[in-house]
Order: sequence, then C-alpha cells, then structure tokens
Amino acid sequence: MNTRTEPAATALYLADTHEVSNLSTELCDYNMYTQDAALREAVQREGGQWADGELSAFGQMTGSADYLELGNLANKFQPEFDTHDRFGNRIDLVKFHPSYHQLMKTSIEHGLHASPWTSPGPGAHVARAAKSFLHGQVEAGHGCPITMTFAAVPALRLQPDLASVWEPKVTARVYDPRNVPVEQKQGVTIGMAMTEKQGGSDVRTNSTRAYPLGTGGPGQAYELVGHKYFVSAPMCDAFLVLAQAPGGLSCFLLPRWRPDGSKNPMQVLRLKKKMGNASNASSETELRGALAWMVGEEGRGVRNIIEMVSMTRFDCMIGSSAGMRMAASQALHHCSMRSAFGQVLNEQPLMQNVLADLALESEAATTLTMRMARAMDNRANEQEDLLVRLVTAVGKYWICKRTPNHA
Ligand SMILES: Cc1cc2nc3c(=O)[nH]c(=O)nc-3n(C[C@H](O)[C@H](O)[C@H](O)COP(=O)(O)OP(=O)(O)OC[C@H]3O[C@@H](n4cnc5c(N)ncnc54)[C@H](O)[C@@H]3O)c2cc1C
Repeated sequence: MNTRTEPAATALYLADTHEVSNLSTELCDYNMYTQDAALREAVQREGGQWADGELSAFGQMTGSADYLELGNLANKFQPEFDTHDRFGNRIDLVKFHPSYHQLMKTSIEHGLHASPWTSPGPGAHVARAAKSFLHGQVEAGHGCPITMTFAAVPALRLQPDLASVWEPKVTARVYDPRNVPVEQKQGVTIGMAMTEKQGGSDVRTNSTRAYPLGTGGPGQAYELVGHKYFVSAPMCDAFLVLAQAPGGLSCFLLPRWRPDGSKNPMQVLRLKKKMGNASNASSETELRGALAWMVGEEGRGVRNIIEMVSMTRFDCMIGSSAGMRMAASQALHHCSMRSAFGQVLNEQPLMQNVLADLALESEAATTLTMRMARAMDNRANEQEDLLVRLVTAVGKYWICKRTPNHA
C-alpha cells in the first residue's frame, strides 16, 4: 500500500531522487603551464627560458573554464559539408562551429603555425612546441591544419618562386577562414594530399596524373587528374599533393581557387566518418583537371614532401604528449577528490602506483618531445640534424602508439 503523503508528481519530488556526492569537479581555472613542472623544466633546459612569461600567460588562458569549453564545443558541434550553394554553384564548403574558428584564430595569432620560421633563433621551436602542447590539451583536431601549415614551409622553400608568393601569407598571423581565392587573403592555411585508395603508406602507388600545361618542370603549371582519399582540413587554401608527372612522382602546390577566381576542381565528395579527431574535417576528393604548380624537381616528389611529413611527425609527438598530459591531469584531479573503501583514491597504495605510472609516462613523452624541439632549433649541427631525422619517426611511432592506451 502506498503510504506517501507528498504528491508523487510534483517537480520537487521528481528532482529529489538522490544526492550527488563523492565525484570530482571540473578541472579548470588553473595555469596549465606553471602547474606542469616537467614542461616548465624542459622549456628551461632546452633553451626556451626567454619564453617563460609568455608561456605563463598562455597557460593561464588555456586552463580557464571558458577556454576549455571551446574544445568541448568544437567536438560536440561537428563540421558539416555542402557541395553546392543554394543557387547550384559548386562551393565545396565545410562549415565549422564558431569555437573551432576561435581555436584556429588563437593558434595563428600566437604563431603556432609559423613562429620558428618568422622568428628563428635559440629556443624558437622549443617555445612554439610548448605553446602547441598547451593548446593541444584544449583541443586536438584543429591542430591538424595548424600543423600542416607549419610543416609546409620547408617544402615550399624548395620552390623559391612559389615560396616568395605564398610564404608571407602562410606565415602571417592572420586567420581568414573565408572560402575565397588566395589573392583576397592576408593569411592562408595549407593541407596535404598524398593518400589514395590503393596505397596510404606506400605513396609510390599513387595513380593521380599530372599533365603539364606548357613546358613543364619546377614551378610550372600542370593539371591533375585522379583522386585523394584522405584529405584533412579541406578548407585549407592550398594543398601539397603528390602526382605522377611524365618524369615520375612529383610534388605540387594545388590552390583551392584558380588565380582567375574560378573554382579549382579538387572536388570534395564527402567528409570521412572517423572514430576520433571529430572537430577536424577529413575528406575524400577527386581532382578533375585541377591546376597545380610543381614544387621542386620532377620525379623527386617523395623526397620533397618528406620535408613536410617530417615536421608533421614532430607535431604528432607534441599532440600526443599533450593528450597524455591532459589524461594524467584528469586522472590525478579525479583521484584527489573521489574516495573508495574509506580513503581518497590517491591515498590508496595501489592507486598511487597507477597514477605514478601515468605521470611518469606522460612526463617522459613531454621530455622527449621538448628535447626534439631543441634538436630542431639546432639543425645546423649535424648530430642534431640526424637526431631530428631519426627520432621524429621513432618518437611519433612510440608516443602516438602509447597515447590511446595511456588514456
Ligand atoms: C585522422 C587522419 C587524418 C589523415 N589526414 C590525411 C591527410 O590530410 N592527407 C593524407 O594524404 N593522408 C591523410 N591520412 C591518411 C594517412 O596518412 C594514411 O592512413 C596512412 O598513410 C596509412 O595509410 P593506409 O591507411 O592506407 O594504411 P596502409 O599503408 O595500407 O597500411 C596498413 C597497415 O600496414 C602497416 N604497414 C605499412 N607499410 C608497412 C611496412 N613496410 N612494414 C610493415 N607494416 C607496414 C601500417 O602500419 C598499417 O598498420 C590521415 C589519416 C588519419 C587517420
């Protein structure tokens, strides 16, 4: 028999089902830089001590509740794709949530896409890596176009006539997301398109063909016909692309719009469905006679684009180390507030063991990444240059492989 006296259907009664207790709070409003001893010590040790003040201010911003929320929003409201506008014009437009644009804007205004190229010198890569590490803890997906833009510069420089036109806009601290030709922009972003259906790692199997429009050769215009199966950040203003020229696999710079203002036919077919990396659009494309200029020597495409790939490997180390740091921070924070079996979790001996392992692995990843940043600052030294070539590959492999398990 129901003996209740209060009215069962009142809002008050329904809301009062249980008391929320023994849960942690949101980890926010902390200084991501000054509270990260391993990062701060690495910055000092590897030559970036001059950036300590700047990094402190940046870490205060990235750790604030409002700023962290941008990362949540950019992943909750995912990119949407329109092939055409409502009048039927082909536009290949990806629309992002405003939070994504804000993250891109901050990254570019703080030089995460270019500072070591525009202000080289001792600690330039170290300071940029530390800032990227902090920003990557807020949101990882937007780091894709930022990284590719950063990484494109050494490859672009292989073709000085193209670099003289593009590099000032690539390195400018201006974020302009408009879907318009490069001539109308002060700041641009760069993507890369290598992967095809029949081969990802093995790009020698690329089937996209490049037809010279004139004499052909370095810096000259070609038309590309084929497909690219994994093009991330398709809203970039141009892409470094591999295609088979008459003299072998070569590297090209392909703009989203032709110089005459018409749409360059690198057509986006659809966005990829991915398990993670949700805020970042990745696409499948077809190249239907798309204009592109050859970068570097004909037949040396892999050698040339590897300049870009090597830089992106380094950024994969930064991004995955940042992921580890955020995971460890969340775990440490949670376990400092939640109790089980009569004790706060971080006072339980076995949990201390787990947390120590997580922190150790995270700090090791940070330490290796920052050591590589110093090597990047010192590539004039042969030993440091060899270290970059070897350890970016090994570091990317190991840190990226460990990060999901660690999380
Ligand atoms: C989030 C995301 C974004 C991406 N964005 C881009 C982009 O913007 N542009 C772009 O061009 N591509 C992009 N890619 C594609 C990516 O570069 C390819 O997935 C990658 O090159 C691997 O190619 P694949 O997937 O075809 O695998 P495969 O090359 O077919 O490899 C399959 C498996 O075999 C292994 N394998 C390959 N070669 C060897 C070997 N010699 N010995 C032993 N094992 C081997 C690989 O490790 C893998 O486990 C992106 C991928 C992801 C996941």
